[in-house]
Amino acid sequence: MTTEEQRDQPVILTIAGFDPSGGAGIIADVKTFVGFDCTPTAAITSLTFQNSEGVFGAIHESAESLRAQILPIVQEFRIAAIKTGMLPKREMVLEVARLIREMNLPAPVVDPVWRSTSGYELIEADVMDVLMVELMPLARVITPNITEAEKLTNLRIEDEAGMRAAASNLREQGARAVLIKGGHLEQRSEVGDQRSALGSSEGSDQAIDVLDDEGNVTVFRGEWIDTPPVRGTGCMLSSAIAACLGKGVKLKDSVGLAKQFVADAIRYSQEMGPESVIL
Ligand code: PLP
Repeated sequence: MTTEEQRDQPVILTIAGFDPSGGAGIIADVKTFVGFDCTPTAAITSLTFQNSEGVFGAIHESAESLRAQILPIVQEFRIAAIKTGMLPKREMVLEVARLIREMNLPAPVVDPVWRSTSGYELIEADVMDVLMVELMPLARVITPNITEAEKLTNLRIEDEAGMRAAASNLREQGARAVLIKGGHLEQRSEVGDQRSALGSSEGSDQAIDVLDDEGNVTVFRGEWIDTPPVRGTGCMLSSAIAACLGKGVKLKDSVGLAKQFVADAIRYSQEMGPESVIL
């Protein structure tokens, strides 16, 4: 790639946790941005300790260090899109919201990260409330999985109708657009919840995601790829949506392209085995 081509690439910012093993968080985000020919920038909210076995702990940054990381980036580059992931402390959510308003930054893709696939709580208990009130109204789209959507709405989600209701509920609470990712029903059944995969319970093997963009609802029906849980798929999906938005693609089309990207990554990890680095 020529320097000129590189200069023309949209610059995307991820504000998220760092997973040194590369399966999730900032490394997954950065690989995704590069996969969409975008230039990555990143601010670290937490240094986590993890590998494919699980999450063993984390040391969080502060609002002050987050601001100190983000300011020089946004002062130098024209940021085309932002994705937020793990925001472990209230003060960080408030700081990100403040910076978006103050610096007139693009409306972010907000992935309301709560637990890792292995069940580790990545954020402090009082974060979700402030995320809903302060950050959700600034977002272009919020991308909860089923577990996160249930936590944010207090609704029980069993099927597509439940996903639509939860998306509508979140919009009533101030979100401009909501993408509810159905894939996690399968994973919950593996950690003791007896429900089966959303698609399978409806007699097909589809993975369903519901996008409610300002009241326009689109249901994405993808093939359910039967693998053990692949880490970082939520990180990749929200990053891919941000990359596409940064390139000027409409939200609905961005979600379609992002889903395709993640499906390819899951298929690739299936071919390469569980220890493979995806992408
Ligand atoms: N670690 C970090 C730093 C993350 O940001 C996330 C999710 O966003 C996770 C872990 C959880 O990823 P997974 O659901 O793949 O376990």
